[in-house]
Amino acid sequence: MGYVDEVLAKVKEKNASEPEFLQAAEEVLESLRPVIDANEAVYRKEALLERLVEPDRQFKFRVPWVDDKGQVQVNIGYRVQFNNSIGPYKGGLRLHPSVNIGIIKFLGFEQIFKNSLTGLPIGGGKGGSDFDPKGKSDREVMAFCQSFMTELCKYIGADVDVPAGDIGTGAREIGYMFGQYKRVRGMYEGVLTGKGLSYGGSLARTEATGYGLLYITEELMKCHGESMEGKTVVVSGAGNVAIYATQKAQQMGAKVVTCSDSTGWIYDPEGIDVELLKEVKEVKRARLSEYAAARKSAEYHEVSADQRSGAGVWQIKCDIALPCATQNELLIEDAKQLVANGCKAVCEGANMPTSLEATKYLQENGVWFICGKAANAGGVATSALEMSQNSERLSWTFEEVDAKLQGIMVNIYHNIDDAAKRYGMEGNYVAGANIAGFEKVANAMIAQGVC
Ligand code: NDP
Repeated sequence: MGYVDEVLAKVKEKNASEPEFLQAAEEVLESLRPVIDANEAVYRKEALLERLVEPDRQFKFRVPWVDDKGQVQVNIGYRVQFNNSIGPYKGGLRLHPSVNIGIIKFLGFEQIFKNSLTGLPIGGGKGGSDFDPKGKSDREVMAFCQSFMTELCKYIGADVDVPAGDIGTGAREIGYMFGQYKRVRGMYEGVLTGKGLSYGGSLARTEATGYGLLYITEELMKCHGESMEGKTVVVSGAGNVAIYATQKAQQMGAKVVTCSDSTGWIYDPEGIDVELLKEVKEVKRARLSEYAAARKSAEYHEVSADQRSGAGVWQIKCDIALPCATQNELLIEDAKQLVANGCKAVCEGANMPTSLEATKYLQENGVWFICGKAANAGGVATSALEMSQNSERLSWTFEEVDAKLQGIMVNIYHNIDDAAKRYGMEGNYVAGANIAGFEKVANAMIAQGVC
């Protein structure tokens, strides 16, 4: 049995109750097979894969808080510190009822490679809680965040582990958590990213994931002799990533004709009006039907709860597709439609939006496909730039941060392209991303000895 198969068998035996983590470990190790086979003797002796798939440590803790009726509630908090061989642990805090240790481990494992790809000194970690901020008052959210941080603050620090936002953790939650860290530890340090601009946040962090997605897409097109100018783009989602991806695509001369939310999708053949979209989603926090009501050229397609709302987006003829909503939103039938319509490139703004079957179909049919690990790394990269500014006690201008982000994304494209070519898989950017992310971490782990 080869080394990869041996380790995968052990991972399955030890983590049988964590399907998401098993899926991630299998996906990554399978695509690393050529690198591991080429270095098997060294990696085996070092037990490199056994060390890579086992987190450095993980914390699980009780989070008691009092609701508005005076009732004590109890949630569970998690932080998984997966791998710090290239820098302090870094990864978001997810607040959602579905959170469990398997999901946090899957996200933390993926984060190791994504963070490595940015070229910045950040290791992999992730955390969160099964607390649901939706429908809670500000006071309840603050009570939860303070209790959560009272325990978490024992394990994190600006040079140890720097959490950030994720699903359910926005600027409000980061603010409450930062306040409690300061109060309990008595230290003012960059222990969290995604902070408000008045207390250490970075300009361009809001735009970073969407803009970064377009910088890497533009480089991909350029390297295939194409440009963004005049291209028709379909985008799913209408949140942070989708809005700023749409804005940057239009600045580059492309026309974005779709967006979606969980209740419906828009086809606007004249091009999405980003200012109107921002007004509807960021200011009013309303449904996309309000966009259609305010814009003559837009068609609104409402969907029922049992339908996939993004699915309609992939039916529209396009040159480039950017899934920016959620996991598993682009399935095999969507991939077939995109290919039939002549789509040239799919780049993932969301985490895991394309199913494995759809990814394979797109790749086999000549569509250039960049996975989220590489394509949406602009968000965490800019978080790392926030850490640098906090350490320097300086704030950079929007233009400085944006220029650095652009350089990072162009670099990621060339790194994943080169890695795929080195192992005879030219054009397979998924394998390239896993390989390029892994190589740096593996070298650092070996150099640092058995730890
Ligand atoms: P937001 O919550 O801001 O936006 C998500 C959007 O997707 C919303 O418009 C939401 O609709 C829509 N959506 C959610 N579920 C569905 C569904 N089942 N069908 C159709 N639409 C849906 O999140 P972000 O934009 O921040 O994140 C989007 C993705 O990008 C996630 O996978 C996230 O993990 C990933 N990502 C985000 C980064 C960031 O910096 N923000 C960094 C890296 C990755 P509605 O408004 O109705 O809820």
